[in-house]
Amino acid sequence: MIGFPKPKPRTSARRKLKRDERLWIASVREEVVERDGGRCRSCLANPMTASQPTYIHMHELVFRSATSGRPIQERINTRLSVLLCDSCHREVHAHRLKIKMEDEERGADGVLTFHRQDERPQPF
Ligand SMILES: [Zn+2]
Repeated sequence: MIGFPKPKPRTSARRKLKRDERLWIASVREEVVERDGGRCRSCLANPMTASQPTYIHMHELVFRSATSGRPIQERINTRLSVLLCDSCHREVHAHRLKIKMEDEERGADGVLTFHRQDERPQPF
């Protein structure tokens, strides 16, 4: 008896999309690690040579919620991704460290500058 493949459930298309997205994100991550030399773009901490355990994160310069519905290639790419160590990553999310792109078009593929946010002067 010859069996025919059952019609695939609709979820398989979604699953394939997810897999494609995962592969895309993994390839972006690889490129970003290569571009940033595996170091924190802000303080240049290098987990390979650091004296204490240092973790490196791929930080996205634009919130995913801001690009929801757009193709994954537009949402996650090297232009919008940067390597940050644990400590700098935390500072960015706490709004104590601000990342500025010198050239919006090139984003993180171009020059980034990092700015410490000063405490606001206390009004009295
Ligand atoms: Zn750092």
